[in-house]
Amino acid sequence: MKILVTGGAGFIGSHACKALKAAGHEPVVLDNLRTGHRWAVRYGPFEHGDILETSRIAALMRKHEIEAVMHFAALAYVGESISQPDAYYQTNVVGTLSLLDAMRLAGVNRFIFSSTCATFGNVDHHISEADPQNPINPYGASKLMVERILRDYASAFGIASVALRYFNAAGSDPDGELGEIHDPETHLIPITLFVAGGMRDKLNVFGTDYDTPDGTCVRDYIHVCDLADAHAAALGVLEAGTFKAFNLGNGNGFSVRQVIDRAEAITGKPIAWEASPRREGDPPSLVADATAARAALGWHPRYPSLDDMIAHSWDFLTEHRARLPES
Ligand code: UDP
Repeated sequence: MKILVTGGAGFIGSHACKALKAAGHEPVVLDNLRTGHRWAVRYGPFEHGDILETSRIAALMRKHEIEAVMHFAALAYVGESISQPDAYYQTNVVGTLSLLDAMRLAGVNRFIFSSTCATFGNVDHHISEADPQNPINPYGASKLMVERILRDYASAFGIASVALRYFNAAGSDPDGELGEIHDPETHLIPITLFVAGGMRDKLNVFGTDYDTPDGTCVRDYIHVCDLADAHAAALGVLEAGTFKAFNLGNGNGFSVRQVIDRAEAITGKPIAWEASPRREGDPPSLVADATAARAALGWHPRYPSLDDMIAHSWDFLTEHRARLPES
């Protein structure tokens, strides 16, 4: 299938393109390169553009004879979404509406949506698709709004869609072709490894007084290649007129302190850290129940171990240090 991958130059989108190509599909990347990287587009054609350019995107869909869209292009920082909600609603909601309009103009009716566990808010148990969604930050709210739009577009316009709600994407391509480079970097595992690599002095641990086993936030880390595989599998469950959603995680929660401990063990380097105030918008714990994704998508994570995720990221960081903004 020919698939338009918005945000295909980004961290998760680029890994998805590799998985799509391996599964026999043809990914065409659309990216404005605001946060993505041209070097990460390796598995098909590249179109430089923005999801807000509705008629141009429709023309690109016709030109490449696109049959499905995978939509990764978005703003995705919880903290930033609280100070800049306008940017989040504009890019994530208005941008997605523009993309859906382009699809309707071009007659494309298959859509895979990059959603998030942040649509759930505070849930103190393994989160299944049946749990209520009450986001506690604009980022999660913007993604939930799109889920709602997709539900309505499925019944009104027949657009088949699947939303994949990621927990914490981590790791990188074990072949070393792709990896995680954000500027600025805000994510826990890369920053922890920057400290191990001597590129930062210390890690600020946002909150040590949460009601969790060691007082730090608990997250369900999932390897980016496993997320990518789930996208390829999701193409197989698209159904006309239907919206489906799946949670993607490993079902294991690790605290910030546990991540630091494992990173020290894997890198063999000490990691200095300092207790800092809580980061606004952070739920104490987010852990997936991915039973439905495993059953419906036939999805079996290849790299469920946190150690593998940290090791793959460390390999990428040490090999591609020159590309990193902090170096
Ligand atoms: N975190 C931290 N220090 C950092 C970055 C993140 O303590 O410099 C914590 C953050 O508060 C959260 C967890 O690590 O509890 C994962 O954060 P990340 O930004 O990686 O992903 P998110 O959960 O926001 O999607």
